[in-house]
Amino acid sequence: MLRAMSITDESLLNRARDHAFDFLRELPERHVGARATRAELLSALRVPLSRDGEESAAVLDALASQADRGALACAGPRYFGFVIGGSLPVSLATDWLVSTWDQNPGIYATSPLVSVIEDVAREYLLDLFDLPRDSGLGFVTGCQMANFTGLAAARHGMLRRIGWNVEEEGLIGAPRINLVASAESHVTIDVSLRYLGLGTRHLLRVETDDQGRMRADRLRRLLDNLSGPTIICAQAGNVNTGAFDPLREIGEIAKEHNAWLHVDGAFGLWARASKRFAHLADGIELADSWATDAHKWLNVPYDCGVAIVRHAADHRASMTSTAAYLVQTSGVERDAVDWVPEFSRRARGVPVYAVLRNLGTRGVEELIDRCSILAAQMADALRSAPGVEILNDVVLNQVLVRFGDDDELTRAVVTGVQNEGTCWLGGTTWQDKAAMRVSVSNWATTEADIERSAAAILKVWSAMASAPAGR
Ligand SMILES: *Cc1c(COP(=O)(O)O)cnc(C)c1O
Repeated sequence: MLRAMSITDESLLNRARDHAFDFLRELPERHVGARATRAELLSALRVPLSRDGEESAAVLDALASQADRGALACAGPRYFGFVIGGSLPVSLATDWLVSTWDQNPGIYATSPLVSVIEDVAREYLLDLFDLPRDSGLGFVTGCQMANFTGLAAARHGMLRRIGWNVEEEGLIGAPRINLVASAESHVTIDVSLRYLGLGTRHLLRVETDDQGRMRADRLRRLLDNLSGPTIICAQAGNVNTGAFDPLREIGEIAKEHNAWLHVDGAFGLWARASKRFAHLADGIELADSWATDAHKWLNVPYDCGVAIVRHAADHRASMTSTAAYLVQTSGVERDAVDWVPEFSRRARGVPVYAVLRNLGTRGVEELIDRCSILAAQMADALRSAPGVEILNDVVLNQVLVRFGDDDELTRAVVTGVQNEGTCWLGGTTWQDKAAMRVSVSNWATTEADIERSAAAILKVWSAMASAPAGR
């Protein structure tokens, strides 16, 4: 039996607002890691599911009581793990509205409002990235699905050009497609190929250089020996080093060989918004499809990725759904189902629209510049200490740090810093060496946060370096 409820339960929404404020107020100064164990969280949250339900406020309080200790402060200013990003105030506020409106913007008919907002956000993004203005664009859950969408359009486009309609015929008996990526491509490229029925076994891997960039000379040699439709996956922003593949050269090679070039620019595509860093992505406009994230560097709440395809017809053909009961519009209206794998979906383009209006092009540029300058500052602060080595050329917002030129020591510093709580960073392995991985992707991070975090890291390191070697 449903409890008595009101659609405008003001006290409940105010309670949620208060819990949100408490969480946000703690965010800058709390321990950056999670402090509760899985067992502790389970014992607090695995209550027997009751027959008659619980008061809304009680449920809300129960959840909020675990947030501080169970959640990471990854939306805070000293979280440098993975490439995460926080939430700009306007994006969080807009996200509240998105949930409130509860639109299903699969098609124009189910939400004219969101359809128009996402249409305009598409124009803003294509301007910002300076990509062909008639490209198709879809707001997806993340760069995984953006890579999937770009590669689905590629699969469709490359096979269509040789007379095979993959959407009708599938891959059984289809002409073979050559798949090319670098040895350093992101794992989500492999996963996308799996989803697309192309598999990973036949993926041809091009050697990379010391920064993880695809070697264009090796790509050229490989393509010279291939025939048939070819899809190349390049990268703008290596997830470890931040390095960019030589995109202009790769774009020219792709053109010469009539190959489809897809670029994974989960965070690197944003360099296009900055005069200072755009040179890194020079030539990216030569590609056929691009994938990026908004929930990382644009600092909108999870989740939102963006798939962009130069050939809108291929994009649409690979994604569109039609059914008799769907109201077909006259053609100018945007139906999101034409551009994304999802059918029903969240209005995730709305916070993107809000952030872009709020920041303006100059604000986005400042966000990208500031994070990258702070990453360089972090690298400088760490490298000045004895026994600390920066493994990558810090070209954007990523820094790889190694301690005492030793795997075990490096891993121990990563764990030590995570436990200490001033900041949070993860570990990685770069060219067979353990490293600490720093990503500066949060709008709220300041110079003081970098100084404080570098000091905390060096304190953990010096305690470890001066301890008697017990290894
Ligand atoms: C984060 C990332 C992805 C995956 O993006 P999600 O938003 O997690 O789906 C893909 N490629 C690169 C280079 C990334 O950094």
